[in-house]
Amino acid sequence: MKMAKIDPYPIIDAHIHLDLYDSEERKEILGSLEESGVEGLVSVSFHLESCMKNLEISKRDPKIKSAFGFHPEQPLVSEAELEKLISFSRRNKHDMVAIGEVGLPYYSRMENPSLQMEPYIECLKAFIQLSNELGKPIVLHSVYDDAPVVCDLLEQESVERAHFHWFKGDTKTIQRMQENGYYISVTPDILYEKEIQDLVQDYPLSQIMVETDGPWRFDGPFAGKMTHPVCIHKVVEEISTLKRQPLQEVYEQLYTNTQNFFKCSW
Ligand SMILES: [Zn+2]
Repeated sequence: MKMAKIDPYPIIDAHIHLDLYDSEERKEILGSLEESGVEGLVSVSFHLESCMKNLEISKRDPKIKSAFGFHPEQPLVSEAELEKLISFSRRNKHDMVAIGEVGLPYYSRMENPSLQMEPYIECLKAFIQLSNELGKPIVLHSVYDDAPVVCDLLEQESVERAHFHWFKGDTKTIQRMQENGYYISVTPDILYEKEIQDLVQDYPLSQIMVETDGPWRFDGPFAGKMTHPVCIHKVVEEISTLKRQPLQEVYEQLYTNTQNFFKCSW
């Protein structure tokens, strides 16, 4: 697919699973970032194999930065397997910008209410401690009822740099996250989900980033299309409209937020 060159202000997709695309799609994405006006990506990991793949991708292309973690919406692995992932992260700490994606399995629990949470909480605690040990920020999958639980854990360990990706939750928790200086990120569903539009109106722009969570696919104007990081320009436009702030200012703020949060430049 050849795209018309987009030349807006630089922007970073702060949360994508680049390793989960098939190799043709990944090639297409990596080959079209520049013409899409996307300066870089943070590729988060699903499990150990995913960490290895993201590391390999990021070593070949400096626009891609890796985060290492274990996604909570899957059965937990043994302690020994988890320890392997943690040692991998320690060994490769200079090639990672964050711990992630980690968190709690909200959607799996909705499907299976008898799912035991304690082992997931223990797993998340290990990653929170690793985040402190390595001095890296943490990228969280934590929505609705799970978010206050995760806030408790972060506060207990005095974590300051936390990013609640694709966040959805109650007003009280939103207020708490804001006061703690936590970041949220917004996906293309801001174009058609009122819940996300309301969140963006309430949350300070200085604590927002943008993401696609690709290869996850979206509805509305994106229905039936492969999720390409180029979509985030539409997200920025929507944020600018909702916040009633000039587009250029919003681009600059989102870009600065991403650099400040991950403490790296693209
Ligand atoms: Zn994700």
